[in-house]
Amino acid sequence: MSDTKYIFVTGGVTSSLGKGIVAASLAKLLQSQNFKVTIQKFDPYINVDPGTLNPYEHGECFVTDDGAETDLDLGHYERFLNVSTSQANNVTTGRVYQSVIEKERKGEFLGKTVQVIPHITNEIKERMQLLGESGYYDIVITEIGGTVGDIESLPYIESVRQLIWDLGRENAVVIHLTLIPFLAAAGELKTKPTQHSVKTLMESGISADIIVCRTEHELTEDLREKLALFCNVKREAIIQSIDVNTIYDVPLKMLEEGLDHVVLDKLQLQPKQSHQLGAWNDFLKRFKNPKHQIKIGLVGKYVELQDSYKSILESLIHAGADQETDLEVVSLHSEEIDLGNVDEVFGELDGVLVAPGFGERGIEGKITAIEYARKHNLPFLGICLGMQMAVIEYARNHVGLTDANSTEMDPDCKFPVIDLMESQKSVLKKGGTMRLGAWDCKIQPGTKTSEIYPSTSISERHRHRYEFNNDYLDQIFDNDFIIAGKNPETDLVEIIEYKKHPWFVGVQFHPEYKSTVSNPHPLFKGFVQASLAKKLTP
Ligand code: GLN
Repeated sequence: MSDTKYIFVTGGVTSSLGKGIVAASLAKLLQSQNFKVTIQKFDPYINVDPGTLNPYEHGECFVTDDGAETDLDLGHYERFLNVSTSQANNVTTGRVYQSVIEKERKGEFLGKTVQVIPHITNEIKERMQLLGESGYYDIVITEIGGTVGDIESLPYIESVRQLIWDLGRENAVVIHLTLIPFLAAAGELKTKPTQHSVKTLMESGISADIIVCRTEHELTEDLREKLALFCNVKREAIIQSIDVNTIYDVPLKMLEEGLDHVVLDKLQLQPKQSHQLGAWNDFLKRFKNPKHQIKIGLVGKYVELQDSYKSILESLIHAGADQETDLEVVSLHSEEIDLGNVDEVFGELDGVLVAPGFGERGIEGKITAIEYARKHNLPFLGICLGMQMAVIEYARNHVGLTDANSTEMDPDCKFPVIDLMESQKSVLKKGGTMRLGAWDCKIQPGTKTSEIYPSTSISERHRHRYEFNNDYLDQIFDNDFIIAGKNPETDLVEIIEYKKHPWFVGVQFHPEYKSTVSNPHPLFKGFVQASLAKKLTP
């Protein structure tokens, strides 16, 4: 067994308390003391991965370099730590059962009855230790999705219980994140739900070492002492996690509360160096003291749920801080945009971003928005479906192919300028079968894109089935509407630009999956810069 130490993060009382942010913040503090840390998320739902889930269910699907479609919390991990994650960092119940059932079909269980304990729990335990066993990480943080007491999270909690025994108590720490509700009528914070939730965890044989308390109001010293007493932890292991204006403040709040200190103490580890948070603090300073303000329109069809575009919104924050610019993001529902309101809605914007998406709903609104942006010199960034719609808009409104479309929206359209990739034509299964993960792209010198990327050979993450149809290369591209980047092996069009415009860029890939606090993405920086330039010199 390796020397890796394990931190388990469970949640109680309600969902949506921000376990992912607390885990990422703790990881940041440990990383800043020179520990090698990774975070993995175990999700109790039965989908094999979130790739088949509608964004309304769990928000955006985050894609890793190795092409895994994962939970959006992995995006937080990468953005906080500036370290890539992989398939191994996200496991679901569906994946666990799939692999146990495959083993059973191969006869690997030698005639035994296959059961939740030990077969499912063994599979979970193996996967929980996979990254740790590489020997690379000092500390592995495992976030258990869902809430303690849920039927579906029981096998995970049981696996954690067993694993703590296997690892030894000094090699594992359990952090339980709960809610301390404020009863306005009584004017009081209440600890009872937390007491119950810690008790539920104990019934499963796990005693929490640290309680992180989400709260809208400061916890008093009395309340902390009471919680420590009733929840069977030391006083310093009661950590307050108070509401903050930005998730990027959470690491500093956890530092003030001494979360990493209590964790290291429990794991019998000494810090390797004092906290190095200079770059993080610089980012926060720029983010909180903007010199400029711009308004960006985000056009999508899932805008009611902010989590659907999590990585895009965070990438805009990184780029805004980099440019010392406050971004007001105006969510625009693509189904509500039409010729009757486009001038009024877009007239007050400094830039427009057209989001990725699937299916027909709302695409005409996206095309109308893009036409406005192209004709009114409004900085434009189109991502994946947003890029495909930019091609359709140009084909229809400039080239004169009025029936141009994507075969995703109209399989029989007259001019299928966007079509299913050749490799996708025989694909019948939906899960995990798109063009996924990192692919290379060669940037054309002399383009806007070539100015903003540090190199002409780039690698970006993908998640799509359709592509620019190369049968239309000669008809669509001209001296103004150009290909700014292609896949060097397959010739797939990756980046388009409209040159008669201050900044009009569409990308087939998803730059938002690679923007981090310490490394804002060049495309988002370029887009924010151009939008700011428009505002300053209208
Ligand atoms: N629906 C489009 C495709 O599959 C675009 C996908 C996306 O925007 N991620 O190609």
